[in-house]
Amino acid sequence: MRFSRAYIPTVKEAPNEATLPSHIFLTRAGFIAHIASGLYNYLPLGKRVIRKIENIINEEMARAGCEEVELAFVTPAELWQESGRIEKFGKELLRFRDRKENLFVLGPTHEEMMVSIVRNRVSSYKQLPLNLYQIKTKFRDEARPRFGLMRAREFIMKDGYSFHATVEDMNREFDAMEAAYKRILDRLGLEYRIVEADSGAIGGSGSKELMVLAESGEDTLAVCDTCAYGANIEAAVRAPKSAPSEAPVAEFNRFKTPGIKSIADLSAFFHVDPYYTLKCVAKRAVYEEGSKIVLFFLRGSDELQKVKAQNAAKALEIVDVGEEELSEAGLHVGFIGPLDLKGFTCIFDEALRCATSMICGANEVDYHFVGVDLGALGEENRFADLSEVKEGDGCPRCSGTLSYTKGIEVGHIFKLGTTYSKVLKAEFLNEKGQAEPFVMGTYGMGVSRLVAAVIEQHHDEKGCRWTRATAPYTLNILVSNVKDEAQNDLGELLYAQFIKAGVEVIFDDRKERFGFKMNDAELIGFPFTLIIGKGLEQGTVELYVRESGEKLEIPVAEAFACVMERL
Ligand code: ATP
Ligand code: MG
Repeated sequence: MRFSRAYIPTVKEAPNEATLPSHIFLTRAGFIAHIASGLYNYLPLGKRVIRKIENIINEEMARAGCEEVELAFVTPAELWQESGRIEKFGKELLRFRDRKENLFVLGPTHEEMMVSIVRNRVSSYKQLPLNLYQIKTKFRDEARPRFGLMRAREFIMKDGYSFHATVEDMNREFDAMEAAYKRILDRLGLEYRIVEADSGAIGGSGSKELMVLAESGEDTLAVCDTCAYGANIEAAVRAPKSAPSEAPVAEFNRFKTPGIKSIADLSAFFHVDPYYTLKCVAKRAVYEEGSKIVLFFLRGSDELQKVKAQNAAKALEIVDVGEEELSEAGLHVGFIGPLDLKGFTCIFDEALRCATSMICGANEVDYHFVGVDLGALGEENRFADLSEVKEGDGCPRCSGTLSYTKGIEVGHIFKLGTTYSKVLKAEFLNEKGQAEPFVMGTYGMGVSRLVAAVIEQHHDEKGCRWTRATAPYTLNILVSNVKDEAQNDLGELLYAQFIKAGVEVIFDDRKERFGFKMNDAELIGFPFTLIIGKGLEQGTVELYVRESGEKLEIPVAEAFACVMERL
C-alpha cells in the first residue's frame, strides 16, 4: 500500500471522553471512528487488524476440528421467550418489530439460535460431537458503553457452541477449546492468564475466562504467587482462614452498646478482633417478579462480594438499600443480628459455619449479644460463599499467597451442560434409543475487544506498538524527502522487493516533512520503519524498531536482507 493513496486519517486531538490508551490511540491513529455511544466504524487500518485476528482464530478453530457457520443477526423473539432469556437479559437485548408486528431481537449471543440449528436435525449420538462457531457482529445495549472498543454496544465476537452425548465428552472439548484459545493468544503475542470465572446469567457449571493482563483491565483477578491458581475476584476462593487470636470468652448475654454501630467500633468496644463480630450487609435483591431485602451475614473481618451475593440470592441484580427503607422494614441499622429475626431471607457466609464466641446485633437499638454460637441457629439457615478474597489470603490449592492483578476479559469458555437443550427441548437418541438433551459447551472470544487489549498491553506515550501478528502492516518504508530522487528511487525499489517477498508493507511516499511522517509511524505503531534519509549519501539507511525503540544503521546493500532476517 502507498501511504499517499491510503485512507489513514490521523489526528492530534484525543476524543473528549477517552481515558484509555487504546481508545485514544485507535482513534487518533485512524483505526476507528466514533459514530454514537458504543458504536464505531472500523477504518481500513482497523479492518486489517480485525482480519488478522480473525485469520488466526479461524486457523486454530480448524485445527481443533470446529466448523464455521454464520447465523442471522436478527433473531425471532420467540426463541428468547422459549429459553426464558428475554427477561434475564433485560434491557441489553435490543428489541424491535417488523412491518407485520413480529417481535425480533438483535443477537447479543447465539445459544438459542445455535440450538435451533441442530434441534430436530441432529437426531442420533452417532452424529455427535459437533463444534460450530461464527465470527459475527453482536449487539448489546450496554448500560454504560465506554472505553472505545473495550465495551461497545455493537462489537465483533467469535462465538462457538459444542454438542455432546455425554458430560465426559463435553469436558474433553472444553479442555481442547482452552488449549486452542491459549494458542490464539500466544500467536497474537499477548501476555494473559486463564482464570476461574463466575458463570453469570448464561448459567451452567464450570467456566474460565481468558484475561489479557493490563493495568487498565476492568476485572480484578486473584492469583497465586506459587501455583497456577487464578480466579476472577467474582469467583475467587481462599484457603480457610485460621482464627487471628484466641476466641473471647463470654457467656451468652445481651449488652448495652450505645451508639456502637460499625464493626470497628464494636471490636474496639469489646476489645475483640473483628473476626469475632458478625457483620450484616443488607441489600435489595431484584427478581423478575419483584424485589426483596436480603440480609447477608459475614465475619466482621470479611467483605461481601457482590456477584457471589447475587448468585447466592439467585437474583437478577443486587442493589443498595437506604437506612430509611430498612427502618421502615423494622430493621435497626448497626444492630441487626440473626437471632429472633423473623420474615427476612438471611444468607450466611461459609466462614460462619459453626462459628462460636461471636458478637452480633440484638435487633434492638443500642444492644448486642455476646457469646453467640451460630451452630445453634439450625440447619435451615442457608450458607454460601459470600466473602471477597483479599490480597494476602491463602491460596485454596497450595500453601501460596494470593495477590491482585488487573485483566481484560477477552474470552470466556463455559460448560453449559443441558441448561439450554432442556428448556429448548433439543434432544438426540442415545445408544439405547432413549431421548436425551444435548450436553453443550460454549466458547466466546471478543474479537474487537482484542484489538483494544493489544494496545492496552502494547503502547507508549507516542502511540500504538502492535505485535507482529496484529500489526496492520509489519513494515513501513519511510522516504524522508520524496523530492530527493535517490531516496525516492531506493524507496520504490525496496517497496517492490518487499511486496515480492510477501511482506505486509506500506510505503510512506507522502510529500510531507520527515518529522510529521515519523510521528504518524509512531502513533500508528508499525513494528518496523525503514527510514531512507540523509544517511543515503553515506550509503546507509535506518531501521527503527517500534517495540524496543532501537534505531539501527544499515548499509543500503544489506537493507533488504537485514529487514527480512528481523521479520
Ligand atoms: P463482560 O463481563 O465484559 O460484560 P460478558 O461476560 O458479558 O463480558 P460474554 O457474554 O462471555 O461476555 O461474551 C464473550 C466475550 O465477548 C467476552 O469475553 C468479551 O471479550 C466480549 N464482549 C462482551 N461484551 C462486550 C462488549 N460490550 N464490547 C466488546 N466486547 C464484548
Ligand atoms: Mg456483559
